[in-house]
Amino acid sequence: MNIQTTTTVEPGFRDSVNTMVDRALAALDLPPGMASNIRTCNATYTVRFGVRLRGELHTFTGYRAVHSDHMEPVKGGIRYAMNVDQDEVEALAALMTYKCALVEAPFGGSKGGLAINPSDWTRDELERITRRFAHELVKRDLINPSQNVPAPDMGTGMREMAWIADEYRRLNTTDINARACVTGKPLHAGGIAGRVEATGRGVQYALREFFRHKEDVETANLEGEIEGKRIIVQGLGNVGYHAAQFLSGEDGAKITAVIERDGAVVNDNGIDVKALKTHIAETGGVEGFPGGKYIADGPALLTADCDILIPAALEGAINLTNAHKVKAKLIVEAANGPVTAAADEVLRENGCVIIPDLYANAGGVTVSYFEWVKNLSHIRFGRLQRRQEEARQIDLMQEIESLTGNTLSEGFKQSFKNGSSEIDLVRSGLDDTMRNTYQITREIWRRSNDNIDLRMASYILAIKRIATAYSAMNL
Ligand code: GLU
Repeated sequence: MNIQTTTTVEPGFRDSVNTMVDRALAALDLPPGMASNIRTCNATYTVRFGVRLRGELHTFTGYRAVHSDHMEPVKGGIRYAMNVDQDEVEALAALMTYKCALVEAPFGGSKGGLAINPSDWTRDELERITRRFAHELVKRDLINPSQNVPAPDMGTGMREMAWIADEYRRLNTTDINARACVTGKPLHAGGIAGRVEATGRGVQYALREFFRHKEDVETANLEGEIEGKRIIVQGLGNVGYHAAQFLSGEDGAKITAVIERDGAVVNDNGIDVKALKTHIAETGGVEGFPGGKYIADGPALLTADCDILIPAALEGAINLTNAHKVKAKLIVEAANGPVTAAADEVLRENGCVIIPDLYANAGGVTVSYFEWVKNLSHIRFGRLQRRQEEARQIDLMQEIESLTGNTLSEGFKQSFKNGSSEIDLVRSGLDDTMRNTYQITREIWRRSNDNIDLRMASYILAIKRIATAYSAMNL
């Protein structure tokens, strides 16, 4: 669907992603035909299936798009939302291809969706619908540990992933790697510690790394640290909630506004994110939250005064209708595709720095990668070495105390002696991924001409890696 505006035409989501990719391709010198091969979505499977519910046969429409299988398995979430369609899943699958290449998660890109409003159905009904959808995808190897590995996305979570994993296992009773057919599972069903918080945690690590580079901070017309920065968050779902919670609770940022479906809450002294989340869970919206002022026109807050804007909801939130009014100096794209290609151009011209989606929200798939590896290795990370590390630390502390004749403080001893648990290792691996990726990307950004921003630098790096994989294939 195209949205006609006074200035220019805003492309649909898939065209918007392609427009960004085309800009990056123009800066690269790929062999003839390679560019269009990379950017084309390989296949999209549409399935319509019936489930008898409430005495009636209901028909559901689902999709699984495979954008690029230059590496297998292909990876990407499954979204439950009424507006899911082919254009959307193909755009999201393309983003997965570039995202995985960028953070060196060894996967191709895929995405799935079911056109459904999860809140219309009970838990048991959702289980039947999910199992049936999974069944359809498993039959065609569109869920498979070595070919296609889904994960949570908007409208889905651990619960749905556990149903999917169980459905795969029932159909593949002898597959010893069955649990690796999907990521984002609960711990008891083969999940990994830290997967739920991973995307929000990744946003925090991305922002921390950005603030380690003074030159980049200055380009955004900001200064100093994350501490004290005024942040507006759009969407307090899994990603927005964790990002806001970590940035305010651990890094001292102030969440000055939260935009949700029913409006926004504003508080210049900073919003208690946990309390707001509880309020939303209890009442269904932000209205009536005592810790801030309620504003019915939520989207208006996207253009309110702040240092950092974190869109963590739907694609296209910042578009030609509001881009020219955005006052944030830095945008961190926690959602997939929150800024349209046309809005991106407006924002760049206005000097706004954007930490792009394919990097900023890659924490989810990064930890999914760790979960997949855990499932294939059939052992929890840290299980072998944790106590050995602990024993060595204790030896070291005792040796220091006996050599110096001094006693180390109890607090230090307690924290130093700990060996690495799974959550420590997951966070360490995620932090390392986010830091490394940013450092390589910013090098490209800084060494290039003015036309290359962080988004372009990310796409250039990702596309180069994909092109290398393509060159080694017998096409
Ligand atoms: N749905 C998430 C994303 O958009 C996670 C994908 C995954 O873990 O495979 O990145």
